[in-house]
Amino acid sequence: MNIPEAPGELPEKGFPHEDILRVLEEKKSGDANWKDGKTWSLVYHLGENHTAFVKRAFGEYFSENALNPMAFRSLKRMESDVVRMTSSFLHGGSGAVGVMTSGGTESCLLAVKTYRDLARAKRPWIRKPEMVVADSVHVAWEKGAKYFDVKPVHVSLDSSFRMDVDAVKKRINRNTVLVVASAPDYPHGMVDPVEEIGAIAAARGIPLHVDSCLGGFLLPFAEMLGYPVPVFDFRVPGVTSISADVHKYGFAAKGASVLVYRNMDYLEHQFFVHGDWPGGVFASPGLLGTRPGGAIAAAWASMMALGKEGYLSNAKTVMETTKKLLDGISAIPGLGPVGAPPGSVFAYKSVKDEKRSPDIYLVGDRLEAKGWHIDRLQKPEALHAMVTPRHAAIAGAFLSDLRDAAGEALASPELAKKGNAAMYGMIARVPLRSVIKGEVLKMMKSMYGKDGTIPG
Ligand SMILES: *Cc1c(COP(=O)(O)O)cnc(C)c1O
Repeated sequence: MNIPEAPGELPEKGFPHEDILRVLEEKKSGDANWKDGKTWSLVYHLGENHTAFVKRAFGEYFSENALNPMAFRSLKRMESDVVRMTSSFLHGGSGAVGVMTSGGTESCLLAVKTYRDLARAKRPWIRKPEMVVADSVHVAWEKGAKYFDVKPVHVSLDSSFRMDVDAVKKRINRNTVLVVASAPDYPHGMVDPVEEIGAIAAARGIPLHVDSCLGGFLLPFAEMLGYPVPVFDFRVPGVTSISADVHKYGFAAKGASVLVYRNMDYLEHQFFVHGDWPGGVFASPGLLGTRPGGAIAAAWASMMALGKEGYLSNAKTVMETTKKLLDGISAIPGLGPVGAPPGSVFAYKSVKDEKRSPDIYLVGDRLEAKGWHIDRLQKPEALHAMVTPRHAAIAGAFLSDLRDAAGEALASPELAKKGNAAMYGMIARVPLRSVIKGEVLKMMKSMYGKDGTIPG
């Protein structure tokens, strides 16, 4: 009996484990190839050994549920350890407290909720809470704003793609419940001027969250190695909380982020307690009910296995590889980096060379034709990379393919009117943004409709 390709209902009888596992292997074959470093996002791969070890740690706690810390005390202890260890390299100080969440998005959503509720408690006259964010802030904050009904007030970027400090000053008003800065931001990899923003926030008595989901497990170690990293953590007096994802540069299993507050005066507004449920008194620190124990155990295990030495050595590899890539990109006619990011995340775009410049989305298409999985930005039109240790071995091959791709794009510019390049170009350039939203919603409906059609 063959396992059906797309079952629409439960099979009458189950299939043997080995057959199913074989099919799972086969199913992957058309997916993005992260194992060979062909992806520039989504997977943070340190190597087979580390992954096998983290999987075992996850497996040890596969069934345990961190929903109830009385039942699974060891999980609560590990969660506290992960928070304390993270807080220590973010200079959290003696009052710092926090939680583990299921990922960066949950950390960001929770921070919005926490500061909204802090304002409800301390400044109850605020009817329409606002949060000040940069245009480059991660989209999880837009989601949090929507979910928790806090108005996002956008601040433009300065010429180096960082949150504009003067604009922050202007946009804070009596309804502001939160300011968010990034270290670094996802699109451009820039660290916002946290010291200046922190001074403004502190003077106005407004909380400041630093979204270091991406950099939290990288930048502190880059700094220890002597790289110039702007101060972004609790050493800045105005910073009240920081998020840092263990499932990114912490090299843990997916489902792990840390959200640290300067002290309990903030964190207490995150908690949910309901005393009158027939099912019992219920208390929960975050968004989830059932919380996978494996993600906590894997994060703990990854941090204990790597130690400071491991994170330093990975940071060194990542920083050196990033430099090699940025230098290489600058040397390719018609291409150049966006800004001068201090860490491991960057964008690269088309620049004029002898008055000619390739369509950057076409360069992306040509790279994909060579087996790379490429992420596109729209402001500015650019391609994007998050560098991991896995990329050290393939940086040369990538640069060579990129040089070829740029050459091909210059030689056949008409291809930019076809395929993905045309689609991304259209999306980036349509002035009526609501049109894009409508089209994407249509796509979502068909993707999550009965047939589950995947575009492209
Ligand atoms: C990844 C990321 C997030 C969201 O994290 P997820 O783990 O993808 O939910 C938030 N902020 C920044 C800056 C990120 O890079």
